[in-house]
Amino acid sequence: MTNLDALYQEVLLDHYRKPRNKGVLAEATADAQGRNPLCGDEVNVAVAMDGDRVTAVKFTGQGCSISQASASVMTQLVAGKSATEIEALYARFHSLVTGTQPLADGEGKQLGAMAAFAGVSKYPARVKCATMSWHTLRKAMGTE
Ligand code: ZN
Repeated sequence: MTNLDALYQEVLLDHYRKPRNKGVLAEATADAQGRNPLCGDEVNVAVAMDGDRVTAVKFTGQGCSISQASASVMTQLVAGKSATEIEALYARFHSLVTGTQPLADGEGKQLGAMAAFAGVSKYPARVKCATMSWHTLRKAMGTE
């Protein structure tokens, strides 16, 4: 394990143990459920939308560390963003975890906690764990 892998592992565990934006969103305007039966992961993503902008987002759920850490990181990344900005974030996340576009030199800082999921590309069976919350968010927003 390289130092970078160890750092990213720590980011994932931190979000798993202390999930951000976990709970019920009182002002939610839409929500959706996601399931990953292969791993037993479940998530509910609730959003408050103002036009096409996500003004607030929270999740509830249970499952493996990757699935729950992904939901936690996602809520931090998308809050306050427009549907177009969120689609761009989702596209980068998807290409990162599937390995179609690995992390570039120096890109880690720009991507923030999202970069911690780069290692998922080495475990194809876990890609669904990582993307479940994003699919569920897009379902709630009506963009999937
Ligand atoms: Zn999982």
